[in-house]
Amino acid sequence: MEAEESLRTTFAEVGKEYGFEKIEAEFMAFKEFKVRWQRSYKWAEFKVSDYLADAPLEVLKGLARSLFSRIMGQGEENYSESMVEWITSPEFSTYKQPVYLRRSRNITRSQKGDVKDLSASYDRLINMGLLERDPSVCLTWTKESNIRKVGHCSVLMRVVSISNVLDTDAIPDIVLDYCVYHELCHLLVGFDPFSNKHGEKFVSLEAKYPNQAEAEEWLKRLCMYL
Ligand SMILES: [Zn+2]
Repeated sequence: MEAEESLRTTFAEVGKEYGFEKIEAEFMAFKEFKVRWQRSYKWAEFKVSDYLADAPLEVLKGLARSLFSRIMGQGEENYSESMVEWITSPEFSTYKQPVYLRRSRNITRSQKGDVKDLSASYDRLINMGLLERDPSVCLTWTKESNIRKVGHCSVLMRVVSISNVLDTDAIPDIVLDYCVYHELCHLLVGFDPFSNKHGEKFVSLEAKYPNQAEAEEWLKRLCMYL
């Protein structure tokens, strides 16, 4: 495979600059976007998310540099600028989102639950002026119940999943909407290479929700967290 080959040669070249002698790199079909690596002395092995299989050479080079410098304790940054630019481009989520959805086993891929409709939540949030409609976002219920965790947001794939525990009339809309809004705030804030998930910007955005205190109270009673 051509892509595998350029990954291997790129990592081998960059690794040599850092004094490594034997370098292995291959693409893996991880569900989440990630890189795994192992090293010992002058040997290093990388398993790189195949979401990068069509990335330009420059992006792979940037990734290799940031990884090797991290391994050598020379840098903290996970991702190079070119890489962040690539994985946060609209094209990236357009092409990778369907793959991500196929790999996500615990989602229904539907906004309609048994009782509640996530698209109705989304509409209400838009009507409240909290959001603008974004057709690239995929909202879905989970299949299995996440009893504690309300939802999940993949910022890169633009997918928000909400626990089907909330798919009941026992939960008021203001609680469900708040949970949906919380996950969507992650998209509004955007990808953070330092994965500072609930930073200052996030907290102030989230606080725009009018019934935040009441919704938080509900979640506390349900022993659920965002
Ligand atoms: Zn969150």
